[in-house]
Amino acid sequence: MGPNEEFSPAPSPQPPPGGRGSNDPALPTVTLRKGEERRLRLGHPWVYSNEVADGLKEVTAGAQVQVVDHRGGPIGVGTANPHTLIAVRLFTRGRKAVDGDLVGRRLVAARELREALGLGDTYRWVHSEGDRLPGLIVDRYDDGLVAQSLTAGVDALWPLILPALVEQASPAWVVLRADSPFRSLEGLESRVEVVHGRLPEAPVAHEAGLAYRCDALAGQKTGFFLDQRENRARWRGLAAGHACLDLFCHTGGFTLAVAAGGASESLGVDSSEPALALARESAERNGLAAICRFERADAFDYLRGSERQWPRVNLDPPAFIKSRAKVKEGIAGYQRLNALALSRVTPGGLMMTASCSHHLSDDEFVKLVARAAAEVKRPVQILGRFGAAPDHPTLPAIPESAYLKSLLLRVM
Ligand code: SAH
Repeated sequence: MGPNEEFSPAPSPQPPPGGRGSNDPALPTVTLRKGEERRLRLGHPWVYSNEVADGLKEVTAGAQVQVVDHRGGPIGVGTANPHTLIAVRLFTRGRKAVDGDLVGRRLVAARELREALGLGDTYRWVHSEGDRLPGLIVDRYDDGLVAQSLTAGVDALWPLILPALVEQASPAWVVLRADSPFRSLEGLESRVEVVHGRLPEAPVAHEAGLAYRCDALAGQKTGFFLDQRENRARWRGLAAGHACLDLFCHTGGFTLAVAAGGASESLGVDSSEPALALARESAERNGLAAICRFERADAFDYLRGSERQWPRVNLDPPAFIKSRAKVKEGIAGYQRLNALALSRVTPGGLMMTASCSHHLSDDEFVKLVARAAAEVKRPVQILGRFGAAPDHPTLPAIPESAYLKSLLLRVM
């Protein structure tokens, strides 16, 4: 397949008969309504249910289908779910069924990118649509892999995916996390399984010379938030000699990073006791226990209950906006949080603030920070705008795939 496989072939009124390039006769056909092929031809990989004219109702969740425009012109092949708003996720602009060969090639391409980025033994190997494997996440931690299946399509392809992962990476262990809340939208059950090898007693994520303990089976998402790697490195570089407050610290990602960067004191706050237990263990393990402290608290309550001013504050809350319907409410929550946090930064100090909500745009994020700053009368300068690390590639055709936004602020 050439580099332009991302885009659909030119529309052809009649698919060519037989042989190479013809539609796969074994696949059911989903026909689009007139005009609905335009976005897909520009590289967008999703067909929404209201764009389909015909062929969707008969399909079982997770089955492969070939998508054609209203005249029968081929668009691509993907996995379907007749029960979800996103009806088809395209894996290929070709016409053949997704097989072990295609999955293998996608995994190789994704792994080559991570190798080129020089990420060592801890990285996101597969980032769903961003790596043209919609619905699949694979994170590598040291000698093991944690995969997430988010869709019925990936559940159906899993018998092809697992052997390819094992063949290509020879992992000591593989965990399948099929427990994302997202799966209920797909009508799928929730389960977690060690599907290959034996899980070590204390799996770790390596980053910037630190070993972070993570819980591959029961930790949040796949156990560690790899997307913030570069932002942790940036923040670490600004920490020397300063007292640092890490709100929503999870397993201590930023808390340990700044301690390693020479912070005079590093306090991590999170509401999850299991996450904090791992954070404490990692602080010990990395010889940073004298600098790091952890406190279990709701971050809002913590900020309201302490007047202390910090020269460095970073916030990395969970997504406050879980769906489009929750945008207004979520923005209000972010604004409240940012206003509180800004009021706890020493004048002249720095704050790094993030949002991981798909449905919050860069502009909206900047605007809510501006309103928060005005509310507490603490003007800010923006020193940088950042996103997720490059092992989380995004697609220009899906702006909301750039879910992580981070702002580095100086607070007056
Ligand atoms: N900064 C972390 C990742 C944060 S993930 C890292 O670098 O690894 C978001 C965290 O917010 C989770 O650990 C979750 O337990 C925590 N959390 C969610 N709601 C919270 C609240 N109201 N107060 C404090 N922590 C909260």
